[in-house]
Formats: sequence, C-alpha cells, structure tokens
Amino acid sequence: MKVAVFSTKPYDETFLKSASQSSTHEFTFFETRLGEKTVSLAAGYEGVCVFVHDQLTDEIIQRLAEGGTKLIALRCAGFNNVNVAAAQTQKLKVVRVPAYSPHAVAEHAVAMMLSLNRKIYKAYAHVREGDFSLHGLMGFDMYQKTVGIVGTGKIGAIAAKILKGFDCRLLAYDVHKNPEVEALGAQYVTLTDLFEQSDIVTLHCPLMHETYHMINQYALKLMKKGVMLINTSRGALIDTQAVIEELKSGRIGYLGLDVYEEEEDLFYEDKSLQVIQDDVFSRLITFPNVIITGHQAFFTQEALQSIAETTVQNITAFEQGKELVNEVTVDRVKK
Ligand code: NAD
Repeated sequence: MKVAVFSTKPYDETFLKSASQSSTHEFTFFETRLGEKTVSLAAGYEGVCVFVHDQLTDEIIQRLAEGGTKLIALRCAGFNNVNVAAAQTQKLKVVRVPAYSPHAVAEHAVAMMLSLNRKIYKAYAHVREGDFSLHGLMGFDMYQKTVGIVGTGKIGAIAAKILKGFDCRLLAYDVHKNPEVEALGAQYVTLTDLFEQSDIVTLHCPLMHETYHMINQYALKLMKKGVMLINTSRGALIDTQAVIEELKSGRIGYLGLDVYEEEEDLFYEDKSLQVIQDDVFSRLITFPNVIITGHQAFFTQEALQSIAETTVQNITAFEQGKELVNEVTVDRVKK
C-alpha cells in the first residue's frame, strides 16, 4: 500500500523502514507537517501516516478523501488532532498506536520529579562552571511524600508502581478505578482531596472536553503551598496563564512540563537561532523552578520500535480487509 508519511524525522524513517521489511508497503517520507498547504502531497496515496502536530481538520480530511486517501494511521496514542467524526463522514478509517511504551512516559515523569526536587539541572550547570557549593540545591526525601496521580490508565499505573518503590503515599483520581493501582495501596479520592493533600501532582489522563484546563486557578488554589506539578500528558490540561500566576505567588514550588498547550509552533524543531514569539512560553522558562522538555517523554528506542511495528500492522490489517483492532471511531476507541 502507498503511504505518505508526514512530520518525518530521521528516526521515524529508520524504524518504519525496519518494521516494514517483510511487507510490500511503499512509504514516501515528508518532513513537513500535514496541513492546508501540504495536503496536496497526499494525493494518490491510499494511506497517510501522521503524528501529534499534524492537523486533521474537517477541511483537510475532505481534501484527503478527494485525493483518494482511505486510511489515517496515527503514530501516537492521542487523537485530539483528528476530527474523527469528519473522517467517518468521508469514510476514512482512523487507526492509532494505543500503547507503545507506557514505561517511557511514566519514567520520564518520575525523572522530572527527581530532577526538580534534587535540582540536577542546576547542579549540572554549577559544576561545569566550577561552582561546587551546595547553595540552592537542597531537595527533599521522596519517602512518604504524598503523590496524587490523575489518570490511572497504563502510564499512571506504572508511575504509581515506580513511586511505590520510593514508599510514597499514593492518591489517585480517575473516572474508572484501576484494581492494579488499588493493589499497590493507592487510595482513590475526589479530585479536590487529591489537590488538597498532594505534595506532588502528576497528570496522566487524556485531553478531552472534560479535562481541558483541569488545572486552572480554582484547582491551583486548592493545592498545598510549594506543590510540585508534573504534566507529561497533553498541554491543554493546564491553564498556563493560571500556572504562571501561581509560580509567581509561590504556591507552585516546582513545575515539570513535557507538553505545552501551544507547543505546535515550537516543539520538534530547532529554534535556537530564532526569537521565540510566544510570550507565555518565554515567561515560563524564566522561572528557576521550572523544567520543560519538548514532548520527548515517549522517546525511547523501545517505544519507537513499538510505534513502527504497530503502525505497519495497522496498515497491513487495513490493506487485507482484516479487523482494525486499533481503530478510532466516534463512539468507541477499540482496545
Ligand atoms: P490510558 O487510556 O491507558 O489511561 C488514561 C486514563 O485516564 C484512563 O484510566 C481513563 O479512565 C482516565 N481518564 C479519562 N477521563 C478522565 C478524567 N476526566 N479525569 C481523570 N482521568 C480520566 O492512556 P495512557 O496510555 O496512560 O496515556 C495517558 C496520556 O498520556 C495520553 O492521553 C496522552 O495524552 C499522554 N501521552 C503523552 C506522551 C508523551 O510523550 N508526553 C506519550 C504518550 C501518551
């Protein structure tokens, strides 16, 4: 099957080529994102393969359908960038990679907690400058701190398991309880209780209408002074402006972000020689107690291999008319 791959980075090409060796799929790799100006590149391709920042709006999907595209294969789990209803109307199938390495993301969340707590990012710079004083580097024991996990699916459950290893007290909030997480001794509480009691709050739920800006000024006012907030999920779970206000007030003592609500214009590109035009982001990076990574929590060898293998399996299943186990539909997300 002919597939146009958008937002291609060298590692995507390497892993997809390797995973498709025994198939007859023909991939054409485009570095550009899929959008209004680039959708014409997809004409004549039965499949498009896209990532988190490719925008599959109603209009783009209509143009894909006109060009003969029948399958949208996401190389990620989240599908908030795809108008699934429009795809269904245009009779395009949408498939995704529901899980690749939940360990990668959970481990990154914990890496952010430890780095912020023990100020590894500052210590690294100090030592390189020959400053061996411990000024400003004091942290706290993770032992017996209360960690609130919002969303206890695949990633949240692994984060819980890792944090259990530190002997943290675990609080959880989810619309569905996970028995695996309960078995670790985590206590499911209301979101209000979780915010009020946690020393660290870590977000692992999807971005949906219900979760948009769940961390807003009201939620932040409930939190302990000096709380650590970690978001490796999706940027728009957090109202960034409200977070900036509470960083200034001192209520947020530590902030670790792998995602940012306006990240599409920044992440995955080298902008080091450009002036950043996003004033909110620019303000965020001035705080000494904030670390930001550019949506890299998933970025491990194991995850990339798994993404490529599942993507190739999804495309093969479509080509052979088999059941699409990873299909995304309006009514349900299979698996
Ligand atoms: P998952 O589907 O296994 O778990 C998500 C959990 O969130 C589920 O248990 C679900 O019940 C819960 N949930 C749904 N609505 C909720 C609500 N209103 N409040 C609280 N919880 C709610 O997904 P996962 O694999 O654990 O991934 C979680 C999120 O991580 C994804 O949605 C994605 O946005 C993000 N993610 C980020 C990266 C990265 O590189 N930073 C990579 C993969 C996934």
